[in-house]
Amino acid sequence: MPLPKTTVAPDHDSAVTTQEAPSAPKVGFVSLGCPKNLVDSEVMMGMLAQAGAELIPRTEDADVIVVNTCSFIASAQQESVNAILEMAKQKAGGQNRKLIVAGCLVERFRDEIQKSIPEVDAVVGTGELDKILAAAGVASPPRVDSPFKILGARPEGDARAAQGRFSRESWDGAIADLPNYLYDEATPRILATPGYTAYIKIAEGCDHPCSFCIIPQLRGKFRSRRFESVIAEAERLARSGVREITLIGQDTTCYGEDFELKDGLAWLLERLAAVEGLRWIRFLYAYPNKITGRLLEAIAAHDNICSYIDVPLQHASSTVLKRMKRGGGSEIFLRSMEKMRRTIPDLTLRTSFIVGFPGETESEFEELCQFVREAEFDWMGAFGYSDQEGAGAFAAGQKLPAREIEQRRRHLMGIQRRISKKKKKALVGKEFDLLLEGSSEESDLLLEGRTPMQAPEIDGKVFVNDAPDGLQPRPGEFYRCQISEAHDYDLVAKIL
Ligand code: SF4
Repeated sequence: MPLPKTTVAPDHDSAVTTQEAPSAPKVGFVSLGCPKNLVDSEVMMGMLAQAGAELIPRTEDADVIVVNTCSFIASAQQESVNAILEMAKQKAGGQNRKLIVAGCLVERFRDEIQKSIPEVDAVVGTGELDKILAAAGVASPPRVDSPFKILGARPEGDARAAQGRFSRESWDGAIADLPNYLYDEATPRILATPGYTAYIKIAEGCDHPCSFCIIPQLRGKFRSRRFESVIAEAERLARSGVREITLIGQDTTCYGEDFELKDGLAWLLERLAAVEGLRWIRFLYAYPNKITGRLLEAIAAHDNICSYIDVPLQHASSTVLKRMKRGGGSEIFLRSMEKMRRTIPDLTLRTSFIVGFPGETESEFEELCQFVREAEFDWMGAFGYSDQEGAGAFAAGQKLPAREIEQRRRHLMGIQRRISKKKKKALVGKEFDLLLEGSSEESDLLLEGRTPMQAPEIDGKVFVNDAPDGLQPRPGEFYRCQISEAHDYDLVAKIL
């Protein structure tokens, strides 16, 4: 999901030590898009800091600006272009020396960016993060290699490659080589998240054939990080004070398949659960038919693995799902959700849907609405279909008008709002662990935090309006709380 533009700066308690250099360029980052892109920004920041650059929070004061872009859907592309243009204007005004554009937009429009925005000095694609050093004009320090090498590819990836899934031939200026980069535990990385929470990218790329998506062409074939590499990074983060880990990848449930590890994610979660200091561990972006019984049991068996599953279903009508090249349908999904809820009784379920896919009839849309009513998700997002040149659905006929797509999206969200309100009301009076995050953006009089039911950034919040006399709640600490009020998506609680 595209997020608003964020100027990212290193967290003070970062696990990576920066070195000062007398002529260090000052580098400012603008990071757009999803947490996977944020991790790429953190890796580039780590490399730059290790090479002697100084990372600063304000792009106005930077010698070098890096805009790390998103190209997931049309609105994300537009947001990325706007950010580049804004920074180009700032540079043209004499405030900065260099402007570097990185990320997914580079994989898609490599030549066009440089041709049409002359202020851009260099581009860095998703598979060439280490080129950020040369682009910023800093010398590379000696490389420290991880002993844990990425191994191979999934047979599905090779088969899809043969079918042309990853082809970028029709994209003007795209380089032929697919991105193949994946950081490891030896790569310097500076957290841009608060010091108590961090994402870990456990895999990169995707082999699935979803016909609305160009991520495989932008990010390359699926490849996992080695088991030991992820554990080593998690242990280092925990030692530096991180208490919450969120595992990410385009599809985390394929983890380990490229080195023939069956139920790799379940094994990984179980091993992470034993890392001292980690209170909440969760993963995002599960693929529906990859949620195995073994994975559910691993979640149910460990207190520090959050009872939380994020499974983007994209649609519920089997005919739409077939055209999306995904498979599944209402009945299969309901049965699988019933199994998830039976195995993990306190489960929080999140999903997202694409509304207005080409040819979506009124009855197919109604099937989706009915499914949402029955499924009663705890959290749900809905995106309007966005046409992507290079995606399978781009050439499809029967495109729906943008107004119709938006109306359907709002209608679906209206159904979910009522479900969410009912579910949140049922939580009043119940007790949960709360990770306090600081003062609320809504009001200085409130604090805010999250329970295990809420992943960072994407789900609702818990506002705290009461705490025992004499208690000074501190961000990054866990407290027992009781829910006292419920809104459509957010909750109000008192610390006990
Ligand atoms: S699973 Fe489908 S939607 Fe998700 S990144 Fe892969 S191709 Fe795109």
